[in-house]
Amino acid sequence: MVFTKTCISVAITLAILSAVACAGQPPAAAPVATQPEPTVLNVVATVSPITSIVENIGGTRIHLQGVVPEGVNSHTFEPAPSVAVTLSGADLIFLNGLFLEEPTLAMAKANLKPGASIVSLGEQTITRDQWQFDFSFPEEDGHPNPHLWPDPILTLRYAEIVRENLAARDPDNADYYQANYDEFAARIATLDEAIKIAIPTIPADQRKLLTYHDSWAYFADRYGVEVVGAIQPSDFSEPSARDVADLITQIKEENIPAVFGSEVFPSDVMRTIAAESGASYIDELSDDDLPGVPGDPDHSYLGLEIANLRIIIPALGGDASALDTVDISPVFDGESNAVYPQ
Ligand SMILES: [Zn+2]
Repeated sequence: MVFTKTCISVAITLAILSAVACAGQPPAAAPVATQPEPTVLNVVATVSPITSIVENIGGTRIHLQGVVPEGVNSHTFEPAPSVAVTLSGADLIFLNGLFLEEPTLAMAKANLKPGASIVSLGEQTITRDQWQFDFSFPEEDGHPNPHLWPDPILTLRYAEIVRENLAARDPDNADYYQANYDEFAARIATLDEAIKIAIPTIPADQRKLLTYHDSWAYFADRYGVEVVGAIQPSDFSEPSARDVADLITQIKEENIPAVFGSEVFPSDVMRTIAAESGASYIDELSDDDLPGVPGDPDHSYLGLEIANLRIIIPALGGDASALDTVDISPVFDGESNAVYPQ
């Protein structure tokens, strides 16, 4: 076989692919890059539950990159300068919003690609009169409790907004996004039903949540649980001695069986409160650190929700077995390329 000089240089550049082409066809047919590249949306999401919701809808048909590493305090997270590169390449940037990711939002705005969009899910899910304020998110600061996603019905709205935005930018895959959404919606419906069965198994006077990090306000409202307190002050410091003493009194008076901390916010104060009040202390809740590691079936929004509820419900005296009906595996076939920074 005889290679032309041109063909040899192409072969050197494109290695085996070009060599095969040159061997079987005239040199003019060798270049393979004339096909238009299929357009794949570049999507960026902030915290991992939101990344997971976007992954469920976008499946294998988008490029997806998370920003906030798991296990860090997402409320105070400051993106490294290198995140600007990721944000500048995005067609769509999904945030929780409601003031959760202000430094990332500012960086996204400053580096937004022409034609790209920033989608603030929280602002499109609840209206201002539905904002919840409390000890950790006081009304005088003007920033509502941003933790909408522990409420699965609000999460379904997040998923719907994601679907609408992906489909608008990528109509060729609109049916695929819709099918993933439909399956996700079915899972959410099963989860919602399971929660409605499981919560009433907690004795009525024990349906009370006292947590360190204040993630459950919207969930509690929907499912008839009372948030009797959250311990973490709005500036992420430790509570005052007076606040601690008041909480101990309250736990004793209300017979609250358990208080909950989270791995992201270890707290000696919480341990003291539990020891002096007689409540058990469980420090395993998470609001944005998904269980397992990327690639595990439970490393997902649904996995996170189930893991938290399997901790909370039995600790308050209830039976969480209804949750066993919820399928937490990905709703789409195949493996996505979603990146969850660790
Ligand atoms: Zn949080």
